[in-house]
Amino acid sequence: MLEIRGLRVDYGLGDQAVRAVHDVDLTLHRGEVLGLAGESGSGKSTLAYGLTRLLPPPGVVAGGQVLHHRTDGPPVDVLALTPAQLRAYRWAETSIVFQGAMNSLNPVHKVSTQLHDVIRAHEPDSTRAGRRARARDLLRLVGISADRLDSYPHQLSGGMRQRVMIAMALALEPQVVIMDEPTTALDVVMQRQILGQLAELRRKLGFAVLFITHDLSLLVEFSDRIAIMYGGRIVEEAPAAQLYGRALHPYTDGLLHSFPALHGPRRELTGIPGSPPDLRAMPTGCAFHPRCPRAFAPCAGELPPLGPPADDDPRRAVACWLHPAGATAPGRPIP
Ligand code: ATP
Ligand code: MG
Repeated sequence: MLEIRGLRVDYGLGDQAVRAVHDVDLTLHRGEVLGLAGESGSGKSTLAYGLTRLLPPPGVVAGGQVLHHRTDGPPVDVLALTPAQLRAYRWAETSIVFQGAMNSLNPVHKVSTQLHDVIRAHEPDSTRAGRRARARDLLRLVGISADRLDSYPHQLSGGMRQRVMIAMALALEPQVVIMDEPTTALDVVMQRQILGQLAELRRKLGFAVLFITHDLSLLVEFSDRIAIMYGGRIVEEAPAAQLYGRALHPYTDGLLHSFPALHGPRRELTGIPGSPPDLRAMPTGCAFHPRCPRAFAPCAGELPPLGPPADDDPRRAVACWLHPAGATAPGRPIP
């Protein structure tokens, strides 16, 4: 559905540039939930903004390709779209719910007005009555009663505002929805409720989700596959159950031991010592090696490529010298 190849994103230009996303290959399949996790600063939001071309300055996409495969017609080369094409593409084919989105509703407009604007911008021929009916349906879809249509954002709870944002993201029935920490500002009960509803909507409407959070327990519960990011690179990728059952990369293992398990045997909580790397002074070799409990000779020397480990599930990929078979097939698509 969405094929990301060799994506690079920098902040700043020339000598001042720091690279926040390095050569990321990632595939989002039709109808799946792909979870993206990693510590704060690992580049998750930068990746999401880069691939939707919503990077705030001084962010620039420095290389790579993003292809959106349609069921009908040729793929869309997202990074090559003109501004006008991009406006038509965004919301209609890929929509994004931002980090802290519930605060991005316009405070001086009613919920109805904001939903109407999204619909009208893409369907200028729609009638007022038609838009109103659509807006009602959308609110109902996310579990808000239609009489809230005439509310202002401040009259809604945080959870409701977040649901309105999700309704806006689904308004034009996109095939891809990117959610960057969609529920982080909400309490745990509300998070689960909204994500549960989202899973149901996805079954009904069939869109694919790139779900970004630093909360691995949420990811494991709501994703089909999970990719782990460290220092701007994908370091591991696997079906959610496999990743949870047995992490290959020591960083993934550290993340899994940083939150309490919801199901199954209790893990010891150890966390990860040290702090994420400084983009201006990335360690040589594997960026994780200075913090890695299992680092050995090659780790500081050469960057381990992302690839399938030997004699393992071919749907897995890891970039770690402990699993050196990865060296044979960098960047291959995950079946
Ligand atoms: P979080 O979990 O906190 O949301 P993240 O994984 O989304 O983190 P990003 O926000 O993508 O991380 O940041 C990745 C890196 O890019 C960080 O090191 C950050 O300092 C850097 N960065 C982000 N925005 C800018 C900017 N406008 N200018 C310079 N560097 C930036
Ligand atoms: Mg972020």
